Amino acid sequence: MSVKVNTNYDNLVKNYLFSEIAKRVKAYTLANPDKKIIRLGIGDVTQPLTKTVIDAMANAVQEMGVKDTFKGYPPEYGYDFLREAIVAHYSKRCNVSIKCDDVFVSDGAKSDCGNIVEIFGDNEILIPDPVYPVYLDSNIMCGRKAKFINANEANLFAPLPEGIDGGNYVIYICSPNNPTGAVYTKDQLEKWVKFAKATGSVIIFDSAYEAYITGGEPRSIYEIEGAKECAIEICSLSKSAGFTGTRCSWTVVPTELMVGDTSLNAMWARRQATKFNGVPYIIQKGAEAALSDQGRKESDEIISYYMRNAKLIADLLKEKGVFFTGGISSPYIWLKTPDGMSSWEFFDKLLNEVQLVGTPGSGFGKNGEGFFRLTAFGSYEDTLEAVERLRKFL
Ligand code: PLP
Repeated sequence: MSVKVNTNYDNLVKNYLFSEIAKRVKAYTLANPDKKIIRLGIGDVTQPLTKTVIDAMANAVQEMGVKDTFKGYPPEYGYDFLREAIVAHYSKRCNVSIKCDDVFVSDGAKSDCGNIVEIFGDNEILIPDPVYPVYLDSNIMCGRKAKFINANEANLFAPLPEGIDGGNYVIYICSPNNPTGAVYTKDQLEKWVKFAKATGSVIIFDSAYEAYITGGEPRSIYEIEGAKECAIEICSLSKSAGFTGTRCSWTVVPTELMVGDTSLNAMWARRQATKFNGVPYIIQKGAEAALSDQGRKESDEIISYYMRNAKLIADLLKEKGVFFTGGISSPYIWLKTPDGMSSWEFFDKLLNEVQLVGTPGSGFGKNGEGFFRLTAFGSYEDTLEAVERLRKFL
C-alpha cells in the first residue's frame, strides 16, 4: 500500500513545446557551430530594469540594514503604499475606480492564475484555444472540465460568447492575448460581461500585457460597466516594467463580486493569508516606483523599443499579404504559415534555412496549428536581420 497521488495529473497533456524547441536548436547548433541563430521565440523581456526602479530598490535594501527601518514579514496582501499606488494606477491609466481592499499584491500573475482555481468549486471552465497553458493545466490539476472556445482566423483570434450554451462557467480571457496578440475592443468585452452576468459565470481577466495597448482598447475589464460584479483581474509588472526576474503582480477581486452570499474577495483574502506570506519589501518598493509617473515614463520608453521591433515584423507581413494578428498593442505577432505548412514544418524550415527561431503555434492548442508566434522582445538589430531572413519565405 502506498499513498494516493493526485491522479488528475495523469490528464495533463504532455507539453513538449519549449523543450522540443530547445532540443532542435541544440542539435542544429552542434551541427552548424558557425551559424548565427536569431531567437524571436522568447516570451521574456530583455531590457534591464529602469533607474527609478533600481534606485527605489537600492534605498529599500539600505532600510533593511538599519534597525529602525528593518521590515520582517510583509503584509499578506501587500503594503498599503503599493496597494494605493495600484489603485492610483487604475485611476490614471484607465479611469477605473477600485479600492485598496480589492487589491492583492502577489509574486506573479502565473501563481495567481494557477492558485485562483482553489476558490471555485467544480464548475466547467470556458477557455479559448489557443491559450496561455497555465489556465488549462491548473484546472486539469484540480479535476475540472474545460470547454474550449475556438479562436481562429475567422474571428481574428478574439472569440465571442455567441453560440455558447448557458452555464455557470469560470471564463478565462487574456487581452492583449498571449500567444495570438489579439486585443478585445470595448464592444467585444461588453458582450463577455453581459454573457457572464446572464449565466452566473465569473471571468478571470488576464491583463498582463495591458501596457502595450495603443489603440484605445480597454486596459482593464473594469472599464466595462458591471464587470466588478462578475470579474477578477490579474495583472503583472513582468512585461510592463521588466519584472520577469524581480517578480511582482497583483490580482483585483472587487468586494462587489458576490456568488450568492459568498464574497470572492473574502475567500481570496483567506486563501492568500493561509498560503502566502507576501512579496518582499524591497520588491514592493521597486513596484511602487515602477507605477510612479517617472517609472511609467521610463517603462513606456522600453515598451516603445519593443514595439518598434513588432512594427518591423508586422510591416513585412502586411507587405507580403500574410494573415497575422498582434504586433499592434501587443509584443506578440501571430502569423499564418506560408503554403499551408504545419507549425513545426515552418519552425524547421526557418531554423535550418535561415537560422531563425520562433514558436510553433500548435504548442498552444489545436487551433494554433498552421500558425507561428514571433515576439518583439529581441534587440532591434536582431529583429532587423530576422525580418530580412524571414522575407525569403513569404
Ligand atoms: N499571463 C500571461 C498571459 C503571460 O503571458 C504570462 C507570462 O508570460 C503571465 C501571465 C505570467 O506573468 P508573471 O511573470 O507575472 O508570472
